[in-house]
Amino acid sequence: MITLKEALSKSTQELNEIKAELKKRANENALNAYVAFDEAGDGIPILIKDNIQVKGWSVTGASKILQGYESPYNATVVEKLLSAGMAPFGRANMDEFAMGSTTESSYYGATLNPHDKSRVPGGSSGGSASAVASGEAIAALGSDTGGSIRQPASYCGVVGMKPTYGRVSRFGLASYASSLDQIGPITQNVEDCAILYDAIKGYDPKDSTSANLEEKPIFGNINADRKLKIAVIDNYINEASSSVQKANEEAIRALELEGHTILHRSLSNTKYDIATYYIVATAEAATNLARYDGIRYGRRSQEPKNLEDLYYRTRSEGFGEEVKRRILLGNFVLSSGYYDAYYLKAQKVRHLIKDEFNKIFAEADLILSPVAPSIAPKLGALEEPLEMYKSDMYTVAINLVGLPAISLPIMKDSSSNMPIGLQLIAKAFDEKSLFDGAASLERAVNYSH
Ligand code: GLN
Repeated sequence: MITLKEALSKSTQELNEIKAELKKRANENALNAYVAFDEAGDGIPILIKDNIQVKGWSVTGASKILQGYESPYNATVVEKLLSAGMAPFGRANMDEFAMGSTTESSYYGATLNPHDKSRVPGGSSGGSASAVASGEAIAALGSDTGGSIRQPASYCGVVGMKPTYGRVSRFGLASYASSLDQIGPITQNVEDCAILYDAIKGYDPKDSTSANLEEKPIFGNINADRKLKIAVIDNYINEASSSVQKANEEAIRALELEGHTILHRSLSNTKYDIATYYIVATAEAATNLARYDGIRYGRRSQEPKNLEDLYYRTRSEGFGEEVKRRILLGNFVLSSGYYDAYYLKAQKVRHLIKDEFNKIFAEADLILSPVAPSIAPKLGALEEPLEMYKSDMYTVAINLVGLPAISLPIMKDSSSNMPIGLQLIAKAFDEKSLFDGAASLERAVNYSH
């Protein structure tokens, strides 16, 4: 498929032909990356994750409970796309309410990985990544609460970026965990990623956590020749599979050849990342999802006995298993007897994790790290929730601290031929260094799709 950069110079007529081609490919491939082919105007078609509001579209978070809901307004990112000459085209499949790492918890069924249909595309933005990787989308938007952009990008061999918390407006994003969620691009290469990031970023008075900080456009200003100090976390890597470790070594070698300085460092609190994330994320999710009561949005249970029964039945019938599990866990960690022991403790640990990153960033411009401990698993392989949660070990800390990070493909696994990505992480609001480093790494590894 043509790149986003190439699409910038296409006429409306040419773009219409491209849209028809995207649809045709999606139908032929049958990866279930799209849940609908809705269109919202002329412009370069951008695939939109099913948790981002597009006026007049059905937006469901891939949940049964939101069937029948039609969005009355555009998310800020959608308004920004439209004013940049891009237009929402197609709704991407995802894990229900963005809770998951495989896109198997969707009400619409699983999305498949285009490199091997017996494997998951990752999640929760699995539809977005699968479509970009298979040429069914030029570029896509996803959301990342604990890795949901970076990890599917890594499993599918494309580029995915999570901006600094506050850089991109969350107005119009169906909230999962509000202190962690960010919308970001999934694209074919680093340059396209910068184009889409530039289009959606910026202060928004409609989001009280939006940062009022100016940033020059990244696209056109990327300096792949800049020499950076890049930290690798030595004690982080030994839990990854041997092929991920090999990709890490390959990337270090490539970065050294590019003239960057590699710093060997360690992080001491990594064993708390998963627990801390799953306490904070479920607590916020339980609160955010309380709004789905059968009265205000989407699907309502029929013939309830009374109001309480309406709530009970609507939520019992409407939410899937993983979402229910998280609502239960979230309410548990917030309940009066356990609040201090779990939720408050997790918030304290979150600060310790931040301090650790700050120490590294006192010396380094970037950190290089795995995205996931392995290549994309087989469908059904992560049925056990704890196993699935553990696969988020390299991504969740970045959201707890609010840092920007970009995942890009490095090499293919020698036995399965599946893509392996790594991520670069930068200081808060230093997206410029993130893109400079990513462009250099992309050039150096010269990944062939
Ligand atoms: N896999 C993580 C979770 O299930 C992250 C999901 C996300 O980033 N939305 O919570």
